[in-house]
Formats: sequence, C-alpha cells, structure tokens
Amino acid sequence: MTIKLGKLFVLSGPSGVGKGTLRENALNGIPTLKYSISCTTRKPRDGETDGVEYRFISREKFKEDISQGLFLEYAHVHEDFYGTLKADVVNELEKGNDVLLEIDVQGALQVKEKMPDAVLIFVAPPSVEELERRLTGRNTESSESISVRLNNALKELELKDKYDYVIVNDDLDSACEELRKIIL
Ligand code: 5GP
Repeated sequence: MTIKLGKLFVLSGPSGVGKGTLRENALNGIPTLKYSISCTTRKPRDGETDGVEYRFISREKFKEDISQGLFLEYAHVHEDFYGTLKADVVNELEKGNDVLLEIDVQGALQVKEKMPDAVLIFVAPPSVEELERRLTGRNTESSESISVRLNNALKELELKDKYDYVIVNDDLDSACEELRKIIL
C-alpha cells in the first residue's frame, strides 16, 4: 500500500501585505488544507485565544522545546520567538492533508532546507509606497513601529527570489485566486 503524503505550503511576506486575508481565504475554500498553529512567546492580543491563533508559551518552555529538537523551524521576529512544531506538520502530511504555514522569511528558508519539497510562496506589495500607505492606514501602529516594519519589509523583499512563487497583492480577489491555483 502506498501512502500519499500531503504537500507543505509556506506563506510569507511583509507586515501589512494582506497575508492573513489570503491565508483565511485559502483555508476556508480548501477543506483538505490544514493550518499549523505556531508557538510564540509574545503575549496574546485582545481577542486572541491560546490554541487558536497561537500556542502562547513562556520563553523557558520555548527554549526547552528548542533543546529537545521539537521545532521544524523557529525564529526571533520583532521582540519574540515564533516556531512551528515538527510533529504538528508531519502528522497532517502523513494523513494526506496539505499544510499551510504562515511564517517569516527566516523560518521559511529553514523549512526549505529541511523539506526541499515545501512550496514557498511570497506575498509582495505592488510597491513599497503602497505598503507604507497600507501600514499607515491600518492605524494600529505608531510611526516608529511603521518604520521598523517598513525596514523589515525591505529586507524581506530582497529574499523573495528564494521563493518558488511571488504573488503581488494588488487586487485581493486575483491574489486569492492565484494562491488557490498554486495550492490545488
Ligand atoms: P504577529 O505577532 O503579528 O502575529 O506575527 C509576527 C510575525 O511572525 C509574522 O511575520 C508571522 O508570519 C511570523 N510568524 C508567525 N508564526 C511563526 C512561526 O511559527 N515561525 C516563524 N518563523 N515566524 C512566524
């Protein structure tokens, strides 16, 4: 008997580019696609629940999990640690389900090294000016935080050529359709 393994998809892109919306659209439209819930040391924001958006864990627990080799990848993003548990991903792939990760660029490149069949998808803004407009328009970030995010965005954009696909999120519906076609 041959077992058909699922495929692993990794979505990255700068803050404010619309990754979250694309991810939700893909997960709602493709029942066999499973989202892997990351671990993080950051505190939950209002409305976030442990085990839904993230598994919120202490720095001590995160370090212990690193030393036990439990992470497929992990990275220090902004001020905190974020990581994907290897077992979560492998269990779903072995069931034949496809898995979607939404993680930063450093993590995505670690995944590609360990699992070369993973499909890396980068979501890019139509331009840096447009990204700045979107970040400013969200009204959720201070001007200092916007400039940190923009600087990070420029660094991330430099690495987009290492990805298998780049989706330019100019029109949301077309971007969702592009992502769907890559996954299906
Ligand atoms: P936020 O704190 O706003 O939810 O996420 C901040 C950043 O961390 C985002 O760029 C997100 O993609 C990234 N991130 C979330 N989970 C993981 C993970 O498991 N691993 C890595 N490397 N990055 C992650």
